[in-house]
Formats: sequence, C-alpha cells, structure tokens
Amino acid sequence: MSLNCPFCHSTDIMIVEANIQQVNSTLSNLASPAALGALGTTVAKSLNLPPIVGGIAGTVLGGLFNSFTEQNTSPKQSLCFCHNCYQKFPIQYLN
Ligand SMILES: [Zn+2]
Repeated sequence: MSLNCPFCHSTDIMIVEANIQQVNSTLSNLASPAALGALGTTVAKSLNLPPIVGGIAGTVLGGLFNSFTEQNTSPKQSLCFCHNCYQKFPIQYLN
C-alpha cells in the first residue's frame, strides 16, 4: 500500500487514531453520572430534600443519558494526516 495523499500526492503522511464523534464524547463527559449526581445533590438542597435523593436521581438520569449517547457513538476510525497540505482523510482513501 502506497502512502500518497489524495489531495496533493505527498508521501509525508501520518496515520492517526481519531474518534469522529468527539462532540458526543465531550457531551457525555459533561453529563456523566457523577457530575449529574453532584448537580442533583445541589438541587435537592435548594428544595429542602435529603441530598441523597437528588444524588440518586441525578445518577440515574446520567446513566440513562449515557446509554442513549453510547448507542450513537461510532467506533474509532483510523485517519491519515498529511503534513504537506494539512488534510485529514480516512485511511480507505489510500490505495
Ligand atoms: Zn496532502
């Protein structure tokens, strides 16, 4: 397999592992069960509920949210990065 950039035909190419759903993974990190549990505890305090109630509710919500986002997460894909024209492209482009 020759490593030629499909854009500029340079051979100065590096293969990188890339997760093309980076936005989703950042979102699920923000909405992790631990983070939502802490948020729920804060909300419960402001509502004069026992903090454990809010913590459990937040953790359950976070788990549900993560199960939804995990279904949409694609597996990691190998990408090639061209040092000459700074293009990224799937490794399948290389023939
Ligand atoms: Zn290139």
